[in-house]
Amino acid sequence: RRSLQEFLDERWPEQGPRGGRSRLVVLAGPTAVGKGTVAAEIKARNPEIHLSVSATTRPARPGETEGEHYFFVDDAEFDRLIADGELLEHATVHNQYRYGTPRRPIIDALSAGSTVLLEIDLQGARQVRAAEPSATLVFLLPPSWDELVHRLVGRGTEGPDERARRLRTAKVELASQNEFDFRVVNEDVASAAQEVVELVRAPAL
Ligand code: 5GP
Repeated sequence: RRSLQEFLDERWPEQGPRGGRSRLVVLAGPTAVGKGTVAAEIKARNPEIHLSVSATTRPARPGETEGEHYFFVDDAEFDRLIADGELLEHATVHNQYRYGTPRRPIIDALSAGSTVLLEIDLQGARQVRAAEPSATLVFLLPPSWDELVHRLVGRGTEGPDERARRLRTAKVELASQNEFDFRVVNEDVASAAQEVVELVRAPAL
């Protein structure tokens, strides 16, 4: 299979990589750092940015909408998506549910000249880096470890066992921050979102 980059270079050979028109941006970072909130803020202020909607085997939480927050699928459908090459990357997150990025909407958005934002975990970020070296990887950091624990407890969506599991993952994820092109501290959502947008708007590296 051709990579996204090859596909796009073929479309705009005279303009170099992606013709400087669009960018694939990955926003990763530990659990409860506020990736989802920052991604939603970026989207709200920059409707031209395409926010990827992942497929997941996790059941929907109250207030989550099919096709808006996630595509909620069962294990068999997730297997099919992988088998048919429909996912750009996929991973089991927190040793539990599977998550993956549908490839087609991203190709379409990049081809149309849009910047695409993926909010995914570390394993996914690494797969995107391997598949698309030109992707921009941004790591979102909490102001401190204590603040991260505080946010995880505060949002109250996980029980004690799940929280402990997520904090173990968070330690591993924080150790990977040097693999990323940029690090942004999520002190407050609006500033973090603004910082990411400025990085993304800067000329391609
Ligand atoms: P949640 O279940 O809280 O919505 O998400 C759990 C984790 O899965 C988060 O760290 C989120 O970034 C990650 N995630 C969401 N979608 C994807 C995806 O498509 N691929 C990967 N690798 N991780 C994802």
